[in-house]
Amino acid sequence: MTFKKALPLIVASLFLFTVYPLSYAVSLSSRKEETKQKPVYLLSFLRENTAQQNAKMAAKYRQTLLERFLKYTTYDSQSSDSTPITPEQIETAEKLYDEIKQFGFPTLLTSHYYIYVDIPSNISWDAFSLGFSCHYDTTPDIPGKGIKAQKIKKYNGKPIELQNGHVLSTETDPYLKEMIGKTIVTSDGTTMLSADDKAGVSILVTFIQTLAENPSKKHGPIQIVFAPNEDVGRAAEFIEGTPYNPDIAFDLDGGTDGELTLSNFNAEKVIYRVYGVNAHQSQAAQNGYRNAWTPACELGAQCAKEEWMPNRSSGDQGYVELHHMNMVDGKSNVAELDFRLRDFNQKNIESWKGYADSVANKISERFDVKIEREVYKQYQNVSQNIRPEAQRIAENAIKQAGLTPRFKKERAGTTAAMLMLKLNRGAYTLFTGQNNPHAFTEWLSEEDMYHSYLVLFNLIDETLRTKKWN
Ligand SMILES: [Zn+2]
Repeated sequence: MTFKKALPLIVASLFLFTVYPLSYAVSLSSRKEETKQKPVYLLSFLRENTAQQNAKMAAKYRQTLLERFLKYTTYDSQSSDSTPITPEQIETAEKLYDEIKQFGFPTLLTSHYYIYVDIPSNISWDAFSLGFSCHYDTTPDIPGKGIKAQKIKKYNGKPIELQNGHVLSTETDPYLKEMIGKTIVTSDGTTMLSADDKAGVSILVTFIQTLAENPSKKHGPIQIVFAPNEDVGRAAEFIEGTPYNPDIAFDLDGGTDGELTLSNFNAEKVIYRVYGVNAHQSQAAQNGYRNAWTPACELGAQCAKEEWMPNRSSGDQGYVELHHMNMVDGKSNVAELDFRLRDFNQKNIESWKGYADSVANKISERFDVKIEREVYKQYQNVSQNIRPEAQRIAENAIKQAGLTPRFKKERAGTTAAMLMLKLNRGAYTLFTGQNNPHAFTEWLSEEDMYHSYLVLFNLIDETLRTKKWN
């Protein structure tokens, strides 16, 4: 047997007798550690600290986090469909920028009021960069000026009566049962609370503060962005891939304990325009008059079939909706059909477009009218471009905080989905403790918000444990 022939055998026996027992021993010892490990609800990252010191420090940051949240609820920051940026958002962005830059990390406020924070790596090896996003605007859909947050300590499980007849109760909101004995925050009932997404903003600012005050905490590069205009669907409009280009990204805008949104719909708006010809109808057979509406209705009926309607869709199924039809201009006789396509799988959207085009061609010939199509991509499924390590990293990080990961598929869009379209970079959406967003009965779980903050440090640790492959 030549050495060349014997080589595989040598490698195999080397693996069997050295590598395998070694890796077995490693996995055994880590399993032992795992069984010893109890849910950790405090900042155990400072190895030199005693448990008591850690608990004290954790309590301090937990209090800071809640106080910060209550402070941010007093910042009016509603976005609006009708202006590029509202004065309230500008004021909020400036206040946040002033607060964050004091922590000493490179911080940038752009002319479009995005705030970027760049926390440089403090380790010697090349680790994954982590990215976190959130939005500081609040929805224009319900009153949001002069928010008066109410902190309820040791919630007793009874219905909470807010002003204007709004009631929060365990009957309508079963998750409140989990909050008995804990701290929750509600509005007074005259406005929203704005936990969507002031919870995310508070978590990230407190995270930055904690890293600034505890430089011994080892971490790779971290990039953070605070975005405006999310609640009017424009969070990604002016985002820039230069300051925000992480390997693994998370959006802090999710719901309750342990929740992680792994995917969402792809969304496209497809407009078909049917061009009729204007002339007097009485001589239509001779003068070339063509009505636009009959072919438009035909196109609508064939391309938005009953079985594709939103109310016939659930779970993993997507839908096609003929959202509206309108006459662009009565004089020019042009009918417009506005279709909304939603699907987890982009292939289904592409195949609908192929089908609709062939229908449009036939109708155009049959009715002798011109038909044109325009496509607008609205947002994209984040799972299409995400590092394969990201889910395991997130899952472990949530478990390390003593929580059970709950994976979710969002039958809509997320901020991450808007960023995905602009930056072609997927991100999971992490829970923040917000409940009932965009409602007078919006409320916050203080504990869930704190857990989310803890998960961020576990994400750092999990990222450092994961080898970076390019
Ligand atoms: Zn939000």
